Amino acid sequence: MPKINLMPKEMAELIAAGEVVERPASVVKELVENSIDADAKHITVEIERGGILYIRVTDDGCGIAAEDVKTAFLRHATSKIKSADDLDKISSLGFRGEALAATAIVSKVELFTRQETDTFGTRYVIEGGNEVLFEENGCPKGTTVIVRDIFYNTPARMKFLKRDITEGNSVAAVFERVALSHPEIAFKLIRDGKLVLSTSGDGKLYSAIYSILGREIASTMIPVTAQSDISVNGFICKPAFCRKSRAAQYIFLNGRYVQSNTVMAACEQAYKNSAMVGKYPSFVINLTVPFQTVDVNVHPAKIQVRFSDEKLIFNEVYSAVKNAIIGGDTRPEIKIATKTPVGFTKMSAEEYTQQTIAEKVYPKTISFPKTENRNQVTFKADTTPFFEREDVKKQIKTVDIDIAVEEEEKTENEISKTKAQEPIEKPIIENEAKYIGEVFSTYIVAEMGDSIYLIDKHAAHERMNFNRLKENAKAESQQLLMPQNVRLSREEFDAVISNTALLEKAGFELEDFGNGSVLIRAVPAMLCAEDVTDMIVEAAQGLLTKGAPESEKLDKIYHTVACKAAIKGGNITGKTELEALAKKVLADNSIMYCPHGRPVAFKITKKELEKNFGRIQ
Ligand code: ADP
Ligand code: MG
Repeated sequence: MPKINLMPKEMAELIAAGEVVERPASVVKELVENSIDADAKHITVEIERGGILYIRVTDDGCGIAAEDVKTAFLRHATSKIKSADDLDKISSLGFRGEALAATAIVSKVELFTRQETDTFGTRYVIEGGNEVLFEENGCPKGTTVIVRDIFYNTPARMKFLKRDITEGNSVAAVFERVALSHPEIAFKLIRDGKLVLSTSGDGKLYSAIYSILGREIASTMIPVTAQSDISVNGFICKPAFCRKSRAAQYIFLNGRYVQSNTVMAACEQAYKNSAMVGKYPSFVINLTVPFQTVDVNVHPAKIQVRFSDEKLIFNEVYSAVKNAIIGGDTRPEIKIATKTPVGFTKMSAEEYTQQTIAEKVYPKTISFPKTENRNQVTFKADTTPFFEREDVKKQIKTVDIDIAVEEEEKTENEISKTKAQEPIEKPIIENEAKYIGEVFSTYIVAEMGDSIYLIDKHAAHERMNFNRLKENAKAESQQLLMPQNVRLSREEFDAVISNTALLEKAGFELEDFGNGSVLIRAVPAMLCAEDVTDMIVEAAQGLLTKGAPESEKLDKIYHTVACKAAIKGGNITGKTELEALAKKVLADNSIMYCPHGRPVAFKITKKELEKNFGRIQ
């Protein structure tokens, strides 16, 4: 056994420091948190080469008294707690008194600080834990900490640093979290001399989201507010704007960035049946809970948090987010173009005619700039003059035929009525949907208020069916005149038989008919008899996943029934039916997405059209 030696003090300190300071981002986090604790209103972070070469954090906070400066750099020196009792009610971000000490041990630190009431401030230089300089300085109010050459004296740690860009991105990630959690502070991040992020500090979370996450994400956000034992505040994205990654999910607990599987699951669960499978909501959620109900005395590098009552937190967050989705969602809007599309020039009608005759020039393809989201509209025009185009001629004919058919459909009685009565001016009700027509046998065109709506008839009908089933499936069951015998594969049969109770809840009545067959006696009223076989096979397929919770399985059955019973895109649907559908959809904000999360309707505002036709700027 080799001899046991006591470690030299410097070595022990280096090891301890390495636990607090892992990389430039951890220094930035600690310094910025110190600035927040010092009540700063403006905080600027500047880094060079990902922070490996240079980090500077400047604040206009309370500053440090000259006589306290050296103490602040000692291990376990803090102004934030005085006794063990304080540990239960910590409201500051720091309290362990380790950050400045640890940073100074593994790098070269220069500090400028002045309290408002002091005439002079202090400049202090400390490298590798050794004091280099301490002097009076005429610096502005607040504190500036400069950290150079991190890990210059610990090559083993230096080796673990990643490329500058990766370290810089970690700094930016820390910065984003802090800036989002403190909208009342104006933050700036300068990377290699360039201002890359900044917030206004106007106190509004939405402004901070706009500045940090960008216009695109911000524009999809709706507010969440709930106040009971705990408060849940923040913004979540509308279901149609869920993304393929969880990158824009932020949870703050009492002003501190945390990760919590409970909170994340509660948020995502609230989007079930509204968002597409495999897509995740963006959110910025602030939780305020009594200090005693969370354990903050964890290691500073650990951001996973545990609550004393996880179930309560889940329920509160779930219902807050769910309510926000129901109350705040609006139909996605189609932006046709933001600027004059390429290919357009303004000219008078006369000029246009002359030019087209002379040069035979027609706009070829007018495609509007692609906006990031899927709601892009591309208009195409070919080079043939409008009235000579084959498709237009056909359309004109079709329109004629349609009108003729409608006339024929009117009964004698109706026609005579129309002739006999004076036309009555129907009062226009602002918020009543007006049916305009249908395109591609799939999309209903309707007008309401100041917008045109395009409604996917299948998605809309499917969602309405789904809602109806969820409300009261059992009551809408109907006995089949002729019970139907459906043969299933062995697996499907097992799935159906072991889920009979669930299928009954959804309005089916069935029994084991032996030999891998089931006899169906009743089905949900909205289904047609000819759909029954397909329906059972599909439902069986949906039930094959083992271990899924009952509610999920029941939803799957409802999806299948709702989809089967819904009118199909591409099929012909009567005008009355379409009209009724459009009116229902536009009057009911719960019909926003189909059960698979696809949007039911898009709108194009009148303003948007006017912009594109050059009527308004
Ligand atoms: P902690 O934040 O856990 O108290 P630190 O080592 O980060 O420990 O800081 C030590 C002390 O230095 C703080 O308690 C605070 O009093 C003082 N301090 C550090 N940074 C600042 C700052 N930017 N403005 C004012 N005081 C500061
Ligand atoms: Mg600190």
